[in-house]
Amino acid sequence: MGIYLRPLLSYPLCPITHHPLLLLITRFLVVLYKVMSEKEKDPVNLRMPLTSLKGVGPVIAQAMAKKGIRCVDDLFYFVPIRWLDRGMVRSISEVQPGEDACIVASVDSYRSMFFRHARKKGFEVVVTDGTGYLSLKWFQWSRGYLQKVCRKGTILFLSGKAGAFGGILQIVHPEVTVIGEDETPGAARRIIPLYSQMDGVKQGFIRNIVSEALNLLGPSPGGILPQEMEEHFGLTSFADAVRLVHVANGEDFDEKRGNEAVRRLILEEYLHFQVTLMSRKRKARQERGIVFAADGPLYRRFMANLGFELTGAQSRALAEIIADMGRRTPMNRLLQGDVGSGKTVCAVASACVAIDNGFQVAFMAPTEILAEQHYLNVHRWFGELGVPVVLLKGGMGRERQDVLDEIRTGATPIVIGTHAMIQGDVEFHRLGLVVIDEQHRFGVEQRKKLKDKSRRPDVLSMTATPIPRTLSMVVYGDLDVSVINEMPSGRRRVATKVLSDDQRERAQAMMREELAAGRGVFVVYPLVEESGNNPVRDAKSMAAEMQHSVFPEYTVGLLHGRMNARDKEDVMTRFREGEIDVLVCTTVIEVGIDVPRATMIVVENAERFGLSQLHQLRGRVGRGTDPSRCILLASTKRTNLATRRLRIMEKTSDGFLIAEEDLKIRGVGDMLGVRQSGMPAFRIGDIVRDLDIMIEARKMAEELTARASEEEMAGLMRHIGDRFEDERDLSEIA
Ligand code: ADP
Ligand code: MG
Repeated sequence: MGIYLRPLLSYPLCPITHHPLLLLITRFLVVLYKVMSEKEKDPVNLRMPLTSLKGVGPVIAQAMAKKGIRCVDDLFYFVPIRWLDRGMVRSISEVQPGEDACIVASVDSYRSMFFRHARKKGFEVVVTDGTGYLSLKWFQWSRGYLQKVCRKGTILFLSGKAGAFGGILQIVHPEVTVIGEDETPGAARRIIPLYSQMDGVKQGFIRNIVSEALNLLGPSPGGILPQEMEEHFGLTSFADAVRLVHVANGEDFDEKRGNEAVRRLILEEYLHFQVTLMSRKRKARQERGIVFAADGPLYRRFMANLGFELTGAQSRALAEIIADMGRRTPMNRLLQGDVGSGKTVCAVASACVAIDNGFQVAFMAPTEILAEQHYLNVHRWFGELGVPVVLLKGGMGRERQDVLDEIRTGATPIVIGTHAMIQGDVEFHRLGLVVIDEQHRFGVEQRKKLKDKSRRPDVLSMTATPIPRTLSMVVYGDLDVSVINEMPSGRRRVATKVLSDDQRERAQAMMREELAAGRGVFVVYPLVEESGNNPVRDAKSMAAEMQHSVFPEYTVGLLHGRMNARDKEDVMTRFREGEIDVLVCTTVIEVGIDVPRATMIVVENAERFGLSQLHQLRGRVGRGTDPSRCILLASTKRTNLATRRLRIMEKTSDGFLIAEEDLKIRGVGDMLGVRQSGMPAFRIGDIVRDLDIMIEARKMAEELTARASEEEMAGLMRHIGDRFEDERDLSEIA
């Protein structure tokens, strides 16, 4: 309400308003306004939809949603791609070749062209500002990008290093932003924020709605921290930072201050995330779970029967898990460890603890192949101990009902399965422990459903995605994490080599050696089937070709994600048992598959895979006693960067190190493994580059929540809204 009154009250008084009655009414309104604004304890709800702003209709809302702007406060975080400082703009005639230039000019003409020397197609746009002509050149371009630029008369803000070609001033690959008349050098404001381009939304319009949104914020500091904490940490208020970033106050701006203000916004968003995690953790602590007694008979027999000693890291992790299980608060632990580090053994040992206490265990895997494999392992271990194990998966036909009965009556203490386990008709007798393998592969809903099948069970998640330690500490803030950072002894390093794909014959010769010794070989392709004119090789046609012309004397099998479960299983079994010699496949084999007789893996178009993914793939071999190798075949057309990345695979087999290196080279946005592991998507900020801010945010959030009452905590969560709903759920059951 206060929002609408404020402009009214600021109208200058004209004679008629001196009427006593009007003055009285005005006074009354002022008092009312004050009362109302004091009552407004919670700040304005900034999570309201964009359409509640003046002038934003459904069409514009849709265009903005494409950029992730849905609510009013998303607008605050929509940081300009750069700021235009009109003071820096010069006319074309002033610019000398070799200088860094900022120019405002309009499009005069454009054409595609062929550069004979470079033997490349290109594109040229000529612009003018009245003082001269400037040629802009692109050697690689996207059609959409140029379409926006190429209309005669369009005004562009350009920057880049000027050069000259044939006596004409040019900029190759300039930075370009389409701007309006009002942003040209003659206009009033000196600094203008320039936003990433949106279809049908003008720059000026974005500026207007940003300042409208800022008016909604009013005099409130707008952030999640109370003022005294902001002061204590020496922080600019959120609202001031937003004003600065969007240059909404006009004055006293420079790029350094602008960038500092952007960091303040990043901090704000990270604070919201960290507070969300802490609120979760707090709730979890209040839940009452099951107290499991340790060291029961099954546990002892299992350990005695294992046939090997746990590694130090395994023992530590297992001790942490068992201690958690012994507490009243439900366990919520993530077990992180490289492929083959022996996580499954730890999980099964914890299952023994649950079973010893008369509870059931649900062991969920993301694919049928994996579930099947876990089943075989557990069955082997538990069979000797006389503990029944069942496998529950899709398409079991009539057998399914029997399995369901066994689960409901509690006749079976451990159930291994895929998400088929979480369907409505699956009832547990007494579910006490949920183990989730490769947890990030499951949807939030799926995990929740499983958990809801009982009074709060303990949850143990496992992941082989090696996330750099510092990172996991801050983003899994409310999970307890155990790391197995040691391989069972006797495990050999997989000798790894990067070859160009014109050296394929060399790779095939090595394959022949392995096959002759009776061992199995994986060949991985990025695609299942040929697709259009994509130059990438596909599994299907290569399997056929390999069988006919390369290894006619051996059996070549095919495995990919589009096959039905029964066929997949069949192929896996035949490969495991040596009936299939060469398994041509896609990345379906990435997770967890255990075939000790496979000693070689060849990855085609390796440059297309993330390093963490390659690491996972490589983990499919070297699981038996024989030495193993991994050949990464990369396209001859790959970039130098790609080669540098792939070489890391030759140098190390430490998943954490690989993740860290990959991160350094590519940044987090691209890092498949990290994204897969359920890292939240932030509106701004790069979790790796801005890790220091995240650590800062964590400290502040701890301080903020440590002394917050339940009511205050609820207030904080109202302020944040459902931004991290997904991540919250993730960490709840993780
Ligand atoms: P992960 O689940 O981490 O990929 P697994 O638990 O499947 O690893 O272990 C891989 C293989 O190593 C299995 O065959 C397992 O029996 C074996 N293994 C696990 N721990 C040890 C150990 N401490 N010593 C020897 N072999 C082990
Ligand atoms: Mg595993």
